[in-house]
Amino acid sequence: MRIQFHGAARTTTGSMHLLDVNGSRILLDCGLYQGKRKEAFERNRHLPFDPGMVDLCLLSHAHIDHSGNLPTLVKRGFAGPVFATPATCDLCEIMLLDSAHLQVKDVEYVNRKRAAQGQRLFEPLYEEPDVRATLKRMRPLPYDTPREVADGVRVTYHDAGHILGSALMVLTLRENGAVRRLLFTGDMGRKHMPILRDPTVIGRVDCLLTESTYGDRLHPPGEDVKAKLAELVGKVAERGSRLVIPAFSVGRTQQVLYFLHQLWKEKRIRDVPVYVDSPLSTKATAVYDRHPECYDRELLDLLRNRQDPFGAGRVTYVTDVADSKRLNEMRGPVIILSASGMCEAGRILHHLKHSVDDARNVILIVGFQAEHTLGRRLVEHLSPIRIFGERHELRAEVHSVQALSAHADRDELLAYFRAMGTPVPRAFVVHGEPPAAEAMGAALREMGVADVTVPASGDVAEW
Ligand SMILES: [Zn+2]
Repeated sequence: MRIQFHGAARTTTGSMHLLDVNGSRILLDCGLYQGKRKEAFERNRHLPFDPGMVDLCLLSHAHIDHSGNLPTLVKRGFAGPVFATPATCDLCEIMLLDSAHLQVKDVEYVNRKRAAQGQRLFEPLYEEPDVRATLKRMRPLPYDTPREVADGVRVTYHDAGHILGSALMVLTLRENGAVRRLLFTGDMGRKHMPILRDPTVIGRVDCLLTESTYGDRLHPPGEDVKAKLAELVGKVAERGSRLVIPAFSVGRTQQVLYFLHQLWKEKRIRDVPVYVDSPLSTKATAVYDRHPECYDRELLDLLRNRQDPFGAGRVTYVTDVADSKRLNEMRGPVIILSASGMCEAGRILHHLKHSVDDARNVILIVGFQAEHTLGRRLVEHLSPIRIFGERHELRAEVHSVQALSAHADRDELLAYFRAMGTPVPRAFVVHGEPPAAEAMGAALREMGVADVTVPASGDVAEW
């Protein structure tokens, strides 16, 4: 077997690795590289191999940094199947269409500047027809169902506990009379998270290809997100004000809705109207509704009792722009969930604009906020802030919780590998910034893994 690391090597985006087994070329993930615009533009456009020579693709989950360059692959000549769990197939439809829309908008913005300077204009990375062609190539492969996908190559998807449909994949490879097993983690989720089942513990494998996003960090212990949410809903109910929650459309939005549902059920909060103001979040929640095969026991019990965990009846989903604007005039108390999660674009900016300067309002940050984002400035209480170029005093209360991270931290990853049994003989560490990937590599060596590599982009390993 030969493997070449083409993305998410010493970085966390653009997941893409090419396997060569018995002459079949198998792509593991085909993610979009996200970073500085110029570099991302070049890397995403120029795939480092001939897409026409790739036989098939195995997709771990729908996050854009794992799936987002599939339309480029198809546009450039890939004609094979893309295997993914049924929920991942459905999420890819809405997320890749959204991504195409963003690609078109981004190029329009760049081209306006280039046209003014008399420079050559660019084409979008891909457009809606490329996404439609990609969706036709997708083949649903349910969890725990082995499938022979190429000569001597069998793949089984297992729960990863990361987002709806996310999978750990085990490849059983028969080559030159030997049978070996490879585990690719995709993105490793966590135990005891709402909605999803815990990651499935796989038995012994011969080779590990693991992510390392939090390879050098631990999540803060003992944070009670539900209690925090109850406290903040109580505050806005009493004050007649707003609770604004910027949240990623897939995963975080549904987790918050599920917690709110539990709090209502337990009579720990008053009946405050909730609005989910994002077309993508609305569509993503509909996909969550359609895939109970991904749910944990607790959520299945709720469904058996005819309860709606994502709140139809109590929650209003807003897709229309005029309805979205009307929310700004609404008297409180009210809870508004909107995208984007880092407050960099989208409808959340309008809600923040109408909320930040009133000390009675509350903003709750529920996800990681990258440097130089408005979300990070909010978390750090850096007033004044700028929204749409206008200056605003930050008077609203800002709270943040970190316990909803969808990635296993260092100790959670290591505990998972220990639970697999004797140390794996060979490991490749990907999908982490260099310090995180190196730290995970060192920890694996300490655990007794004999051969650990932290590959750079373009590196090749024979195995
Ligand atoms: Zn992910």
